[in-house]
Amino acid sequence: KVYVLRIGHRPERDKRITTHVALVARAFGASGFLLNPCDEKIIEKIRETESRWGRFLEEIECVRSPLDYVRKWKESRGKVVHLTMYGMKLDEAIEEIKDTKSDLLLIVGAEKVPREYYDLADWNVSVGNQPHSEVAALAVFLDRLFDGKELYREPANPQIKIVPSRRGKRVVKGSEDSEGASR
Ligand code: SAM
Repeated sequence: KVYVLRIGHRPERDKRITTHVALVARAFGASGFLLNPCDEKIIEKIRETESRWGRFLEEIECVRSPLDYVRKWKESRGKVVHLTMYGMKLDEAIEEIKDTKSDLLLIVGAEKVPREYYDLADWNVSVGNQPHSEVAALAVFLDRLFDGKELYREPANPQIKIVPSRRGKRVVKGSEDSEGASR
C-alpha cells in the first residue's frame, strides 16, 4: 500500500494545489492521504469525493507531527520515498522500490523541505531534475510504480460512475452497470 504525506501546506495559498495532490493520490493508486499543517476543509472535501465517487482511501487525516509520523512509519510499517528534484533518477529508483514488498510513504513538499526528510527517506527520488509541481511528480511516480494499472481500478461503493464513451458524457448510478441496468 502507498500513503501520501503532504507537508508544508500553507492554508492561505495552497488550498487548490493540495486538494489536487489528494485527488491525484486517490485517482492514481494511493490508499491514504495525510496532511500537515492541518486544513480541515481539504480533508472534508476529499472525504466527500470518496463518498460520491467511491472508496480508495482508507485514511484521510491531518498529522500533528509529520517527522514523528515518518519515523514511526519506518519503525513499524515500511519504507519512505521523498519526491524532490534533487533526488536520484526515477528510472533507477523505481526498480529498487518495486522490489521492496513493504508499504510506502510518499512525501511531497510545498516550499522548502527541511533537511531531516532527505535524511529519513529511504529514497529521495526526482521526476526529472527540473523544478515543476508536486502534482505532476506524484502522478508520474505513481503511474510508474503501478505501471498504469491503477487508472481504471474500481472504487468501493460509488454513488456515481462514468461510463467511458468516445463522445458525450455518460454517468450512471454506482449500483448500475455500463448498460444502465441495475445490478
Ligand atoms: N524548492 C522546493 C525544495 O527545495 O524542495 C521544492 C518546491 S516544489 C514547487 C514542491 C514539491 O514538488 C517538492 O517538494 C517536490 O515534492 C515536488 N517536485 C517538484 N519538482 C520535482 C521534481 N523534478 N521531481 C520530484 N519532485 C518534484
